[in-house]
Amino acid sequence: MNEFDSERIEFLLEEMDYRKEDDVSKADLIIINTCAVREKAKNKLYGHLGRYKGYKEKNPDLLICVGGCTAQNLKEKIIKDFPFVDIVFGTHNISSIPSMIQKRLNDNKSICSILDEGFDYDLKKFKKNYSFKSYIPISIGCNNFCSYCIVPFVRGKEISIRPEVILENIERLVETGILEITLVGQNVNSYGKDLDKPITFSEILERVSEISGLKRIRFMTSHPKDLSKELINVISQKENIMPHIHLPLQSGSNKILKLMNRHYTREAFLLLTEEIRKKIKKCSITTDIIVGFPGEEEKDFYDTLDMIEKIRFDRAFTFIYSKREGTKSADFKDNMPLSVKKALFTELVNVQNKISMEKNQSKIGCKYKVLLEGNGPRCELEGRLEDNTLVNLKYDDDELIGKLIDVEITEAKSFYLIGKKV
Ligand code: SAH
Ligand code: SF4
Repeated sequence: MNEFDSERIEFLLEEMDYRKEDDVSKADLIIINTCAVREKAKNKLYGHLGRYKGYKEKNPDLLICVGGCTAQNLKEKIIKDFPFVDIVFGTHNISSIPSMIQKRLNDNKSICSILDEGFDYDLKKFKKNYSFKSYIPISIGCNNFCSYCIVPFVRGKEISIRPEVILENIERLVETGILEITLVGQNVNSYGKDLDKPITFSEILERVSEISGLKRIRFMTSHPKDLSKELINVISQKENIMPHIHLPLQSGSNKILKLMNRHYTREAFLLLTEEIRKKIKKCSITTDIIVGFPGEEEKDFYDTLDMIEKIRFDRAFTFIYSKREGTKSADFKDNMPLSVKKALFTELVNVQNKISMEKNQSKIGCKYKVLLEGNGPRCELEGRLEDNTLVNLKYDDDELIGKLIDVEITEAKSFYLIGKKV
């Protein structure tokens, strides 16, 4: 969602005749689009601001702006602590960036503009960073209030975008050559409940899949409590809906799941993954795990590890719990020392890496359709299988970027595959 917001900001700036400058020290305007999910994001922001202060001393005309979820969360505090910041804007007022910049250029006072709620999305106005794939938000905000999570406080209540608007925009993007669309929402599975004419996520997904020329559809994130049988059926029946579900488990302990306000049990989660694997051919399941939630004891952690071993996720994103002021769990007693959390975290990562490696090794010798997305960090071409596994290709024909090609897997690593074009 944050990446999509950056694409919206870029579009608005280009309309104002700003152009992207890769060397930040030469910029006339710097916008930091922040995250707030973990405390680390705030520290990173402060680090960047410390550096940019020096640029401003050299170039007093430089505008420094802070947006996104940390801006939404800290509000005026940013300008109070960093008076050289020119504009602070929230997650609900991105569309007013041009007028804020104009105002700041006209008078010499910093601006802090944070709306508590609102809906200012125009799906036509974003800078396409790729010619062949795009994110499309289908809802903003979240109503779930998982006890550790700051998102509902900074993104507001869940608002679904009308299906006609989503479909019309995807059709337009496909006409321009887009092959892959990722539908995004904090919980796509609760999409549409708030609309005048309610519609389910599986219904909108099915309608998106009928758009001719659209080769690949992905979506995230799916809250396990709301994932329906209809959704599993739709994914299993439609060839252009990719067989990958990101299904955050967070914890494998029923005690912790309850404290997290997740509304499912480990048993229900297990059944759900079995159902997905039974009905959707070659479906990958990935997850998010939090280690060291307040009240978590070692036996709760081993319940999580047990789920990791039972379910054998294709990949897992693991986080050490980060206390977010204002959330419910910020008031929970947290007795586990950080050193223990770190040791358990490493144990979990090692187990998951071994599973990911084994899963990847089972793909050696098999052929897959791959959408090539660009150059990877090791200078190879990088692409994704249908199930979202990353693959590197020792093939230096940049012309292939944005194309769907057949690839045979030759080697496996924990986080990616290596393959050759066939
Ligand atoms: N709406 C999505 C993603 C939310 S944030 C969902 O529900 O899955 C992405 C991930 O960050 C979460 O799944 C969770 O694992 C992690 N996360 C959120 N708040 C956190 C916190 N306070 N500490 C550590 N990890 C957190
Ligand atoms: Fe946060 Fe839970 Fe909403 Fe995801 S579903 S954004 S974890 S409150």
